Amino acid sequence: MSLKKYSEMVGLKIIYDDSYDLEEFLKRIADNPVEPYRCFECYTMRLNRAAQRAAENGFKEFTTTLTVSIYQDHNLIRDIGEEVAKKHRVSFVYFDFRDGYRQGHNKAREMGLYMQQYCGCVYSERDRFIDMKPEKIVRKY
Ligand code: SF4
Repeated sequence: MSLKKYSEMVGLKIIYDDSYDLEEFLKRIADNPVEPYRCFECYTMRLNRAAQRAAENGFKEFTTTLTVSIYQDHNLIRDIGEEVAKKHRVSFVYFDFRDGYRQGHNKAREMGLYMQQYCGCVYSERDRFIDMKPEKIVRKY
């Protein structure tokens, strides 16, 4: 995992929860596995877990690395972050890190860190290869 490797390289202490509740994710989106609906569910699951871990570990605030991405829906992330924060009595810190997106990629490349070519779920991996326009499914390779 790149984050683990990075934290070791720079001496950053991290509390990990690298579980991925695939079954729950699939259950939530099975009837409508398209964007932005599936991303809404995905953000909700991830941010809820982060807020929960923050609260359990005595932190008052939490945030997400999702906000460095130029491909993510920042408004949706902020809304969900604030919503789950209320539930766990912590605060969600939103900061738009998109200006550093390319710089981050260059740094990761320089450090020899793995960079995933898709967002994260099986659907995004599939979408790398095919254009999912309903009228025609075209393979890109
Ligand atoms: S991994 Fe990315 S594309 Fe897939 S549901 Fe989550 S945010 Fe959306």
